[in-house]
Amino acid sequence: MFNKKIGVLTSGGDAPGMNNAIAAIVKTCKYNNAGVVGVNYGYRGLLNGDIFDIDNMNTDDIINRGGTILGSARCLEFKDPENVKKAVEVAKQHGIGGMIVIGGDGSFRGARDLSLAGLPTIGIPATIDNDISCTEYTIGYDTALNTVIDCVDKINDTMRSHNRSAFVEVMGNKAGYLAVEVAIACGADAVLVAEQNFDIEKNIVDVIARKYEEKKHFIVIVAEGVEKVSGKSTKKIMNETVEMIDKKYGIQLDAKLTVLGHIQRGGKPTYKDRIAASRMGSDAVKLLINGIGNRVVALKHGKIVDYDILEGLEMKKSIEDELLMLSKIICEK
Ligand code: ADP
Repeated sequence: MFNKKIGVLTSGGDAPGMNNAIAAIVKTCKYNNAGVVGVNYGYRGLLNGDIFDIDNMNTDDIINRGGTILGSARCLEFKDPENVKKAVEVAKQHGIGGMIVIGGDGSFRGARDLSLAGLPTIGIPATIDNDISCTEYTIGYDTALNTVIDCVDKINDTMRSHNRSAFVEVMGNKAGYLAVEVAIACGADAVLVAEQNFDIEKNIVDVIARKYEEKKHFIVIVAEGVEKVSGKSTKKIMNETVEMIDKKYGIQLDAKLTVLGHIQRGGKPTYKDRIAASRMGSDAVKLLINGIGNRVVALKHGKIVDYDILEGLEMKKSIEDELLMLSKIICEK
């Protein structure tokens, strides 16, 4: 029997489904007669001892809510090993014998540091970008995808009515999963992601000109990470497109920019996020109860697996070629 408490915190960017993971952790602890405490505001809360008994909370009321009831924070001091040691001491003072950290890659580095400093810690992948390499799925991605699809469909309705063209910037810094899947799902005319070089003339201007006989409204999806690698903001890409298509083809595009921003992060978690988060949360507790720490829980071929945190952090994944090819077919034809 696990005779210490299990602590849970959320860290980094929030994602819908984090609350489902918290609820599953609380219930799995209760099922196994283990105490459970919540830590507010990520690693900052752990350092400050902002810790409370969560096992008497009615977690059924949180599972249909986006965000995280524990709050999230970025705590740069946590990169200092002295502060990691301090956090382990604080945890011990609160009777915590194992931690669960729900977050992204950065949060997992902190989780690994905690484990190595003597507090067994498990990471649960949660980010709407789906950019954690060791898992085929991250909590929050499906909800964000559905939100973005809904927004782009709505933007498309008005573009269609006025013969306008929309340039829509979606989240996704290192990884363009959201952009590519939304482009396919919404029938975009071009999609730009940080992972692939692009040429405005070939990938946007010539495609629009080719389709111009059939339709007069267009949609271009741009992942936010594109600016970092190309040095061009979505607005600049839009302006260059408008200029170039006029010069080369004499087409005057009426183009509008929409940056979706934080709307993509919020909202009720979908079925997929509720189930994935519940499975991962429950599995994290089982690992700690079995005396196992320094692992990250993941999904592989739909099954729950776990990896050493460092091993997980060193894995690489990229958008499947088949998806990229499909987005090319959908956009260009
Ligand atoms: P995410 O977890 O979503 O990738 P961040 O990269 O912002 O988000 O990391 C979240 C938090 O994890 C940071 O604010 C910090 O407290 C902790 N963290 C990030 N990188 C490290 C690191 N190298 N060592 C220890 N803790 C880290």
